[in-house]
Amino acid sequence: MKKILIDIDDTILVDCYLEVVNEYLHTNYTYQDIKKYWVDDIVPEELLEEYLNYFYNKINIYDYGKTNENAIQIIEQLNKYYEVFICSAYIDHRNLEICSEILVHKHNWLIKNLPFIKPENFIFTSRKDVIPTDIKIDDKIDNLENADTKLLITAYHNKNIPETILKEKNVIRVDNWEAIAEILLNH
Ligand SMILES: [Mg+2]
Repeated sequence: MKKILIDIDDTILVDCYLEVVNEYLHTNYTYQDIKKYWVDDIVPEELLEEYLNYFYNKINIYDYGKTNENAIQIIEQLNKYYEVFICSAYIDHRNLEICSEILVHKHNWLIKNLPFIKPENFIFTSRKDVIPTDIKIDDKIDNLENADTKLLITAYHNKNIPETILKEKNVIRVDNWEAIAEILLNH
């Protein structure tokens, strides 16, 4: 059975980080306003430390998340034909003492929403690139390293990566979970 590593944030779940920022700052930012990978880079520098304390101590980010359309149903299908692993990053160098708080939320969200995946198949790391496997699905191109099939799911921060670079890195862009199903379940 081939193995698949699937990311959580902006792959299975979308939109949660910006909602928390908007609620905290009383703003209405949209993804058009986000120019970098980290959504919270939009928080003014003088408020960032306070924001991160609030974020890690008071917020369960997964209470805010929306599931990417059809993601859970398609992962359940994939789980019949592949060995599925969920691989999610949690290190935040801006606040190493408290960033592991999010691990509890990730773990609990997974056991509740993806009960068909064994918890032994949860991988929490920030070095996905060093894990060799058959297939990876992620919104961050560097995380796809070391896989035979690399599926980059379109997100606000990767939509401008040109096709030539994707080709060079042997990466296939997928706009949604239907496109993933088309590639991985169409046999
Ligand atoms: Mg991600």
